[in-house]
Amino acid sequence: MLSTMQDVPLTVTRILNHGMTIHGKSTITTWTGEGEPQRRTFAETGARAAQLANALRDELGVTGDERVATLMWNNAEHVEAYFAIPAMGAVVHTLNLRLPPEQLAWIVNHAADRVVLVNGSLLPLLAPLLPHLPTVEHIVVAGLGDRSLLDGVAPRVHEYEELLAGRPTTYAWPELDERSAAAMCYTSGTTGDPKGVVYSHRSIYLHSMQVNMAESMGLTDKDTTLVVVPQFHVLAWGLPHATFMTGINMLMPDRFLQPAPLADMIESEKPTHAAAVPTIWQGLLAEVTARPRDLTSMAQVTIGGAACPPSLMEAYDRLGVRLCHAWGMTETSPLGTMAHPPAGLTPEEEWPYRVTQGRFPTGVEARLVGPGGEFLPWDGESAGELEVRGNWIAGAYYGGATGGELRPEDKFSADGWLKTGDVGVISPDGFLTLTDRAKDVIKSGGEWISSVELENALMGHPAVAEAAVVAVPDEKWGERPLATVVLKEGASADYEELRAFLAAEGGIAKWQLPERWAIVPAVPKTSVGKFDKKVIRKQYAEGELD
Ligand code: ADP
Repeated sequence: MLSTMQDVPLTVTRILNHGMTIHGKSTITTWTGEGEPQRRTFAETGARAAQLANALRDELGVTGDERVATLMWNNAEHVEAYFAIPAMGAVVHTLNLRLPPEQLAWIVNHAADRVVLVNGSLLPLLAPLLPHLPTVEHIVVAGLGDRSLLDGVAPRVHEYEELLAGRPTTYAWPELDERSAAAMCYTSGTTGDPKGVVYSHRSIYLHSMQVNMAESMGLTDKDTTLVVVPQFHVLAWGLPHATFMTGINMLMPDRFLQPAPLADMIESEKPTHAAAVPTIWQGLLAEVTARPRDLTSMAQVTIGGAACPPSLMEAYDRLGVRLCHAWGMTETSPLGTMAHPPAGLTPEEEWPYRVTQGRFPTGVEARLVGPGGEFLPWDGESAGELEVRGNWIAGAYYGGATGGELRPEDKFSADGWLKTGDVGVISPDGFLTLTDRAKDVIKSGGEWISSVELENALMGHPAVAEAAVVAVPDEKWGERPLATVVLKEGASADYEELRAFLAAEGGIAKWQLPERWAIVPAVPKTSVGKFDKKVIRKQYAEGELD
């Protein structure tokens, strides 16, 4: 028997309409560096999104499910694009502005983007690529930047504000199939070609509801979230959509992502929440240690994308800011887990839960798979590869301009679960602890050493700012750990001392202690700010770290 309930499609359009009316007074504040920040209400954003959709259709001829790309910082215009493009039925494709140019070109061509919305400050990146982007017919430029860079290389060029000016502030949004594509994002391709994940209206709607649950970020219209995680990194972890559901105010850093302006914007705008990867929080910590600022408005910070070292969490506890650990991937929209401890515990009892990756929400089912393909128990000890499935988890990758889907065997199980490539354990009460990415585990003499455990322990040393550990070939053991360490400004420590610290304070077993070390000026980072272990392994192989 079927239910008697209405079947209303779950679409981005409904999120937009809700936000711009019910929460019309909530604001998007975009940092401008010097002068006053730019402030825009959700009602204004909705009206401008309609103007953008009118312009895209009437002036640029966008129809059907064409891809409209964005090469933009986090700002109000980017949010307008987030809503206008999917609501009119097209697909917003966020481009990662930190990718190497050849990869960026590969991605634009694979997605067959026809229009690119770009911030003027990013024209030096886009302009040289244009001769290699045959599908791109229109460039729309927003904000400051040297337009002359486009002379002779660009197809049709439009000014964002001029394009919107005078257009109707309403749009007859079509009723869309909730399963149709709304947005796409490519994984940063640390192995092989980048892979396109295509989010549906339905997956975005359900994911946004989860982001807003108290067991996830749980924010309301009393909050302001500082969205440091780029809008090109898994749709800014769902925040721009989630905010329109509950009226959460947004603080957007635009291109001012360095620790000093971030500290300034926190002190002056007083966000109650923020979201970013650990390296951002490391940088901010060094900044406020050198030049103290008040960060205490941020009651909760969502930290994820890479393992959060417990020492970082402790340091922020001392500053009155609670870091909440989350795990996810481009393929998981990204919310996969969040580490809120169970009720009724003292701060000491909460600690072991806080340092895990967290618990799965209802919409994400999880299982652990052992080396022989067997399913492992949730006993907090059996380590295996994490597989997940659910309403906002990818079931395939985009096949490219020719259409279709790709389902590589190393990424999807025969029964359709996503193989995350992450290795860990799950406790009986459902808390996930990741020990490594499968490709980063150090296999030493038949035993596994967790690079993350060594890094976390090292980053607890008072002289260490950052530490990244990778596997390097070893004649006797197969692989052994190489520890690369960045020291804090003015601090010193030698390898013997660090080794002794790992054993004494870090609780690392003797056979796991690294014998190869390098003090480096900085750990190389990926396009989304994570440790780039591929580069470290290459540097070692080429003798640069001896
Ligand atoms: P990329 O694969 O290019 O880094 P993603 O942002 O999709 O792009 O990365 C997802 C991966 O990041 C996960 O598979 C996992 O290895 C890692 N990750 C994300 N969050 C955490 C976390 N809290 N702890 C440890 N690793 C994490």
